[in-house]
Amino acid sequence: MRTLVKETLEKIGQSVTLNGWVDSIRDHGKITFLDLRDRSGKIQCVGKDLPKVTTESVVEIVGTVAKRPEKLINPKLPTGSVEMQIEKVIVQSLSKELPFPVDTEGYEIDEELRLKYRYLDLRRPRLRRNIKVRSEYVQAAREYLFTQDFTEVETPLLTKSTPEGSRDFIVPSRLYPGKFFALPQSPQQYKQLLMTAGVERYFQLARCLRDEDPRADRGFEHTQIDLEMSFVTREEVMKLIENMTIYALNKIGAKIATVPFPIITYQKAIKKYHADKFDLRTESEKKAGILSFAWVIDFPFFEKNKEGNWTFTHNPFSQPRQEHEQWLLEKKNIDRILTSQYDLVCNGFEVGGGSIRSNRPEVLQTVFEIMGYQKDEIYRKFGHMLDAFTYGTPKHGGCAQGFERLLMAYLGEEYLREIQAFPQTGRGHTSIMDAPSELDEEQLKELGISVRQQPKAKTV
Ligand code: ASP
Repeated sequence: MRTLVKETLEKIGQSVTLNGWVDSIRDHGKITFLDLRDRSGKIQCVGKDLPKVTTESVVEIVGTVAKRPEKLINPKLPTGSVEMQIEKVIVQSLSKELPFPVDTEGYEIDEELRLKYRYLDLRRPRLRRNIKVRSEYVQAAREYLFTQDFTEVETPLLTKSTPEGSRDFIVPSRLYPGKFFALPQSPQQYKQLLMTAGVERYFQLARCLRDEDPRADRGFEHTQIDLEMSFVTREEVMKLIENMTIYALNKIGAKIATVPFPIITYQKAIKKYHADKFDLRTESEKKAGILSFAWVIDFPFFEKNKEGNWTFTHNPFSQPRQEHEQWLLEKKNIDRILTSQYDLVCNGFEVGGGSIRSNRPEVLQTVFEIMGYQKDEIYRKFGHMLDAFTYGTPKHGGCAQGFERLLMAYLGEEYLREIQAFPQTGRGHTSIMDAPSELDEEQLKELGISVRQQPKAKTV
């Protein structure tokens, strides 16, 4: 029967079997000290004539847990008051020398190398903590949403493009050569259709795929806590997300500066902070690792793009502020139309956003017309939404929380990648496996694809 390292504290005097990795070895000639690490912690083991073993090897150790003499207690180690007196070491898997140390923070190591050996990189305490805290946050958020009568629903990964202001990742179809799926930039349309379906309160840990140049707080893939609610006001959705965030952060022991979260209009934010994301923390709050939230509301619905055409600032499916709906339908004062969008800001990051949606087909259609879409194009791309809205769709609204960015702020990380187990590299490659990569001729043929030219890789 395996004993976990942390359980040794209650097993003084007993013979136990531990399993784990050799964290370090100190050979003192007559006796050898070996620190063993498992998911629950580390313990010092001591013995004689041990078999040849390297650090980071996996071993089974049979021995007796003994209390350490008072002056040998290590106060830095939770198991520092005991040690394991080794009777037998069985080497289960010998480790070669690692390409880099895993007992440091790891920031000093080349990131490409870290991600090539991510399975080793993840052994470092900092990353193990990040992955654990992430799991605890998500569990708490789920727990909260279930108490609020939400249903968790998965939506497809193979889908049609949804505009989130980014570029789609495309998947070729074998059954329909020449046709393509898009990977979702978000589940926006499906979650709204779930409101037509009568689900009323939906959430999902949604993977979002966006083909944009990787940046510190952005990668090809991110996960968001995505939710949608029927028969709600803007304030009710904001409150729900706020309460979920407070509940989940409490569970992981994070401290929040101000509750309820302050609300500021976009106009005021620009005037005061010259940006719609800002950091409200005082210097002492920064030092204490406190999280400071604010909501930003009343964004303009449209802005001009580089070509000088109108485009949405956040989400084309949003409802304009009620008092501006008529302007929208008449396509006038476009620059003054405000949207029901709300963004959540934390320590200078945008960590979430959502809106109340329009359930009137004519509003949605006009939004796309303002952006210069022709009627047939609107029907080709969004006809399913316009159609669904003619079968009894409640007024609804939702939000998506980019909790990975939130955890970056909490864990003091500068890169989103530090919160993800297997992120893409800063140069847009997968961790460990070599992708993107070429396909076999056979696969290309099956998909009806011929690669005409190989443009040079873009350096990002
Ligand atoms: N679909 C939006 C996003 O991914 C969130 C929302 O409006 O609910 O940012």
